[in-house]
Amino acid sequence: MLAGGKFFFLPVLNVDGAALVEQSYNDTAKKIINKRKNMAPGFRSTCGEEDAGVDLNRNWPLDWQAMDQSNNADVCGEYWPGLEPLSEPENKALSKFVADNKAELKFIINCHTSGNDFVWPFNGRDPNDIQSRAPNYLTIFNDIAVNAQFPDGAMFGNSGQVMGEKMSGDCDDYMLATYGIPSVTSEMGHLNQYDASWKCTDSKVCFDILSQNTKWMEYIFQNIGKIAHIVKPK
Ligand SMILES: [Zn+2]
Repeated sequence: MLAGGKFFFLPVLNVDGAALVEQSYNDTAKKIINKRKNMAPGFRSTCGEEDAGVDLNRNWPLDWQAMDQSNNADVCGEYWPGLEPLSEPENKALSKFVADNKAELKFIINCHTSGNDFVWPFNGRDPNDIQSRAPNYLTIFNDIAVNAQFPDGAMFGNSGQVMGEKMSGDCDDYMLATYGIPSVTSEMGHLNQYDASWKCTDSKVCFDILSQNTKWMEYIFQNIGKIAHIVKPK
């Protein structure tokens, strides 16, 4: 795969949040804190360092405040979307990266660590209206779901279909709507294989999860020419 195509890897978007997790892991006898959000300095005196910050995957402009109002008002909450859409430097940087490389980007995969879902747009809509808004893209996602090989028990659809929750300001929604690039979030892993701190139970489990998730990625790669014909880049 690597020999036959061009891949861009962005290992971590929330680099400062990840650095805090790593630092406290080393400082506190290997305890993993629940730091989902970034390290935006606002509200730190109200929320504390761990609970302050913006949820980067609720900060994208499309359907920015589609979630329950309590999420949009709770500045210390897990899903706080920020003061305005695209306010965060991490999101601005990723948006610019995609804009700069959109001619070469034919598919975007956001890798997350819950299990066990293959999530596609539009996450800010319940029920999902992708059938009317972007039917060609739904054809692509359905084809992957039906014909590619996924780990046992994988679920498919938007966040409402796989998790029963509407997500506002989602990255995939924005990338598809803004650039016309098919974008998905893979919640990798197997249900029940992660502990409460989102960590693989051991290195063999991590390896199994990664190797089982390569199959559908290979399928996308093998079909990327066909996919590029179906999409309408913007
Ligand atoms: Zn996720």
